[in-house]
Amino acid sequence: MIQLRIAGGSVYDPANDTDGDVRDICIEDGRIVASLPDAAPRLDARGMVVMPGGVDIHCHVASGSVNVARRLLPEDHGRHPATAPSLDDPAEVPRSGAAGTVPTTFTTGYRYAGLGYTTVFDAAVAPIMARTAHSQLDDTPIVDGGFFALLGNDDYLLRLIDTGDRERSREYAAWVLGAAGAYAIKIVNPAGVELWKRGTKERTDLDTTLGSSRVTPRVILEVLVDSANALKLPHAAHIHCNNLGLPGNSATTLATMAALDGRRAHFTHLQFHSYGKSPDGRWRSAAREIIEYLNAHENISGDVGQVMFGSATTITADAPVEYLLHKSSGRKWANVDIELETGCGVVPHEYRDRNAVAALQWAIGLELFLLSGDPWRLVLSTDHPNGGSFMSYPELIRLLMDRAYRDEQIGRVEQKLLAGSAVADGLEREYSLSEIAIITRAGPARLLGLQNKGHLGVGADADVTVYAPHDNRATMFSTPRYVVKRGVLVVEEGQLRRAPTGRRLHVRPPFEQSVTRDIERYFDRYATVRYANYPVAGLHDPPVPVGAR
Ligand SMILES: [Zn+2]
Repeated sequence: MIQLRIAGGSVYDPANDTDGDVRDICIEDGRIVASLPDAAPRLDARGMVVMPGGVDIHCHVASGSVNVARRLLPEDHGRHPATAPSLDDPAEVPRSGAAGTVPTTFTTGYRYAGLGYTTVFDAAVAPIMARTAHSQLDDTPIVDGGFFALLGNDDYLLRLIDTGDRERSREYAAWVLGAAGAYAIKIVNPAGVELWKRGTKERTDLDTTLGSSRVTPRVILEVLVDSANALKLPHAAHIHCNNLGLPGNSATTLATMAALDGRRAHFTHLQFHSYGKSPDGRWRSAAREIIEYLNAHENISGDVGQVMFGSATTITADAPVEYLLHKSSGRKWANVDIELETGCGVVPHEYRDRNAVAALQWAIGLELFLLSGDPWRLVLSTDHPNGGSFMSYPELIRLLMDRAYRDEQIGRVEQKLLAGSAVADGLEREYSLSEIAIITRAGPARLLGLQNKGHLGVGADADVTVYAPHDNRATMFSTPRYVVKRGVLVVEEGQLRRAPTGRRLHVRPPFEQSVTRDIERYFDRYATVRYANYPVAGLHDPPVPVGAR
């Protein structure tokens, strides 16, 4: 039985109303317990900041598309070799790899843990690619992980929606989640990806029809959002709206939020969906409209998708966006159509502070954070590696916590499109340590319905990060002194020392068995995979219960 007392640190555990109180955290057998005998092993955390392990609600680390990106960027690997860590346990084989914007699997696990993150979700996996996603997660050590299944342009689902049978659509969604070993429903540019594949170049509005008047983004959203809620999935439907990255898309975003009419839903990387358009056609910030709507509607939550300056790689199921980015930037790209389930595009990208659009995107992300009325419902993401690497989270935290530093950075960026934005007008807000703990662990865990994550109450998973305070918050958050994963000390004195296997987070909602007869017929007629071979098998961890919320 492994015991550990993290003694005397200032504990930031907002889910349990603990805001910097000095107290001990007791760990036994991988969980937080109320107390331990005095003789239990002790970690001296006096003068340090103690938080739950970080939870990443939206990143791209383990999908077929991520592997396409790895293949597209061999030069990235050459520039950023990652040496193997020196681990204490000879049974754990340390692995070298490559870092850069799309790190290899082992390096991904080591680096997340090295930042104090212990749970990560890949936000976009085509169900037919579930096997590669699971094998990549198997090779991503330390962190617990899972993924969201792409359903917003799924051919079989679109056929069901065309029949008007919403119940059967819900049962299909339940079947897919279990078959893929996925955690949540993901919707990317509903209908828009499929329309682009068929040759359409226009914007997709909520009532744009796809083949039949019965199939529109609005109906797809209603069906899948209702499915997630009726199935009582731990996480709401995770929505990437139509028209990502286009000036004026804030109108689409607001219309989508309104269309859900009180339903529980999560809107991802809102920064990429908060662009206004001036009368002269120029880009402008619409962050204020978006965040005011979110603040006023408790049924919806979001993550930011902050852009950070430097190299990024855009990886998305929103293939038409990647086509436009490739055309405008001239960079190389990959486009993969994944057996009519979804799309996939990859384009490397550079966000430069002297580029007007990049500066606007950066400012919009900050505005969303700084105008947010509820940190529990607007959490941190860079949409890694789309807006920037997860390795830039500490720098982002510094921007949120340190106004003087932020104002200095705002002064450096291209100002051309910033007129009228709240950031340019000056925002005083500085996030507190407690608010940082909410947007990086307690909030995402709550939005994901992970009852044992993101907090340090009795019974929680013993995922704990201990930071040495530093005036430079980027320094503080980039090198935690200690990280504990399920009771195991993985980072000691800032060095990665152990790399245990993480757990898989997935759901297996019940569904009406009779729906599988038609799914099987569909596979026989159209798929390259036999129905019986489609579901993944051999997941070691039990599913996360549905119906708890
Ligand atoms: Zn994403």
